[in-house]
Amino acid sequence: VAGDPRALIETVRRMYARGWAPGTGGNMSVVVPGPRLLITASGVDKRVATVDDLVVVGLDGVQVAGTGRPSAETAVHLELVRWGAKAVLHAHSVWNTLASLLAAGRGQLVLHGLEMLKGLAGVDTHEHREVVPVVANHQDTTVLARAVHRVIAEHPRCHGVLVAGHGLYTWGASLVEAERHVEIFEFLFEVLVRAKELPHGTVDLS
Ligand SMILES: [Zn+2]
Repeated sequence: VAGDPRALIETVRRMYARGWAPGTGGNMSVVVPGPRLLITASGVDKRVATVDDLVVVGLDGVQVAGTGRPSAETAVHLELVRWGAKAVLHAHSVWNTLASLLAAGRGQLVLHGLEMLKGLAGVDTHEHREVVPVVANHQDTTVLARAVHRVIAEHPRCHGVLVAGHGLYTWGASLVEAERHVEIFEFLFEVLVRAKELPHGTVDLS
């Protein structure tokens, strides 16, 4: 398998360990020379994932290497790669699921006034307003990919997209940057959701 499959598997295992990809949840990919996309296969238990659980697809989505089936959500990864992502990470966590449900009715959530926003590429102040679009979930991932296309076209500077009741897609110029973005978003979503538990008016993150 081309590229650096071990680096991607290390990311997969860390995402499992942090509670960002329990069970077979989530999928992870990185652009490799070709260019092609190295991506986790469908139905892989992230706890015990190995390089044998990765497959390679062309940017047209056609599988070129690996024995498993590409992740069902490959279409969304390829959409984000078309917008310039070099690595795409999809996390199913408790906090991103709750955040997605809190914001689903509004179609987006806004993160503002938090120092940890500076962990997102190109953000240098806590005063940054990070718009995270929220799209409806769909089992047809080509529909999901089209929805992601629409919200990225509308918010080309965003760093992540939530799928309602489902999870987070984030990406980066490298695998390291994409993984940092997962960590930053998971921190921010936990702050956002826990803030709702505090007495009314204690914390205003709007
Ligand atoms: Zn998913």
